[in-house]
Amino acid sequence: MKTISGQCSCGEIAYHYPAPAVQIVACHCSLCRRMTGAALSSYVVVKSAELVFTQGQQLLKTYAVTSHTQRHFCTACGTSIYNTNQEKYTGLSMLYLGTVNLHESLSPRMDIYCENKLSWLSITDSSRHFENTPTRP
Ligand SMILES: [Zn+2]
Ligand SMILES: [Zn+2]
Repeated sequence: MKTISGQCSCGEIAYHYPAPAVQIVACHCSLCRRMTGAALSSYVVVKSAELVFTQGQQLLKTYAVTSHTQRHFCTACGTSIYNTNQEKYTGLSMLYLGTVNLHESLSPRMDIYCENKLSWLSITDSSRHFENTPTRP
């Protein structure tokens, strides 16, 4: 896999990640569903220390979703860029897959919180289904 880059919908914020993703997950938990407004949420998990904002970092704002989960979004256009969870996923950033360039080539390797998956949503590859989070991604 090549390096990862991406941007928000208005293009003011852009980022670059020099290495392959740590993990790519589709999350079916109800918190992500509310947070994103989507039936499922897809994340490209990267090491926070290596994630570089090439422009617009000053436009990022952080919203505390829970006591340990934070959502980081563009204040110009509202696009969610990434989430962090200091308690469960220390040192990692969960980039919203839709903000990544070439996101078509980054398919989820795990589906997590499948017990909360919407019944009308079908996932063809059941080998990557997990209840809750089996391990640190
Ligand atoms: Zn933006
Ligand atoms: Zn979730």
